[in-house]
Amino acid sequence: MDHAELFRRSLAVTPGGVHSPVRAFHGVGGTPIFFRAGHGARLVDVDGREYIDFCQSFGPLILGHRDPDVSRAAHAALDDGWSFGACEPYSLALAEWIAGRVPWAERIRFVSSGTEAVMSAIRVARAATGRSKILKFTGCYHGHSDAMLVLAGSGLAGRVAASSAGIPDGTIADTIAAPLDDDEALEQVFDTAGAEIAAAVIEPLPANYGLLPQRAEWLQRLAARCREAGALVVFDEVITGFRVGLQGMSGALGIRPDLVCYGKVMGGGFPVAAYAGRADLLALMAPDGPVYQAGTLSANPVGMRAGLAALQKMERTGGWAELERRASGFVDGLRARLGAGVEIVRRGSIFWIRLAADAPVRRPRAIPERQAEWYSAFFHAALARGVYLPPSSYEVCFLSLAHDAPTLEAAADALAEAGRQAG
Ligand SMILES: *Cc1c(COP(=O)(O)O)cnc(C)c1O
Repeated sequence: MDHAELFRRSLAVTPGGVHSPVRAFHGVGGTPIFFRAGHGARLVDVDGREYIDFCQSFGPLILGHRDPDVSRAAHAALDDGWSFGACEPYSLALAEWIAGRVPWAERIRFVSSGTEAVMSAIRVARAATGRSKILKFTGCYHGHSDAMLVLAGSGLAGRVAASSAGIPDGTIADTIAAPLDDDEALEQVFDTAGAEIAAAVIEPLPANYGLLPQRAEWLQRLAARCREAGALVVFDEVITGFRVGLQGMSGALGIRPDLVCYGKVMGGGFPVAAYAGRADLLALMAPDGPVYQAGTLSANPVGMRAGLAALQKMERTGGWAELERRASGFVDGLRARLGAGVEIVRRGSIFWIRLAADAPVRRPRAIPERQAEWYSAFFHAALARGVYLPPSSYEVCFLSLAHDAPTLEAAADALAEAGRQAG
């Protein structure tokens, strides 16, 4: 089949030919590949050509494509009916599983996307504090709700202002965007506006503008200033939750957020997300409290059962430790083969391949200027050798438990060659 022809037809019926911007390959150039299937670590395109996949649907597939346990759970759910719009035991099982393992998830509400999760968490924070301003950090991505599209990452990364059109001035005025990794800016924001801030929202490991690991002390200082100011700490763990470990970055950092947002891994690859946190805050939600939030397909049983199966399998098999072992071996080996000009930043099974820089890169501004140009060449050289990377230099790569030793060896060979070709 002709990928270009499929894309031409897509352009005639869909804006930009895609249902989510990064899929259009604008970040790397060329025509998007059309995939018809996936299995394990691999994607299969419409011609039957296979690729080792390091995108993994942008993170959800921590067990790889079509994991047999997740598949069984999803099929069982289909056999029982796929939407009730009523109480069912499946979301209860997933909520209990999470609440039993993540102490700061005292109450949990399921939604269908990370965007909804963060949007709802912000609403709770505003209701709880009676304040309207939200502090976010430039380069962090929190989904596409109005308030969060000011100086964001992901598909906006690399654009000049990195903000969306169509956001009302009032919303922009209520969003304070501060730089990551900046001690002075942090103090200044709280000194001048602390009393107006409902919440600080942050990816505790920013992973939507490349991977920008933050200093733990800086994150601790942010949490401390929030407490002093009476502002809530909202950790957006949509990408890191159940990915960097059972308790996510909150657990790794030892910072207890007031509210936490999940998505991606939690749904086993289905449209599932959640916001969770302090019982007194979640008590503000309808039907018991004054804050409204609802969803026709919320806690969809297919996603609930698939998500629980995925999380249970990760726990049962020691999945996070195994991923750490595989990812560190793979990345260390590949780093050596790619040479000094290229660096791989890694946390658990998340990694970002970028041009080397003089100092740790903790803000978008510090990303080497030639990154996008170099990555385009690297991406296409990898693609030609059967390795599919995320189609943007600012998106991170993911390893899954389906990436076994022979797969990783083949991938390392292909990526080392791609590195030589990209120069
Ligand atoms: C992916 C992501 C979101 C948005 O989730 P969607 O399900 O795409 O709406 C929000 N925050 C972070 C940190 C993410 O990685």
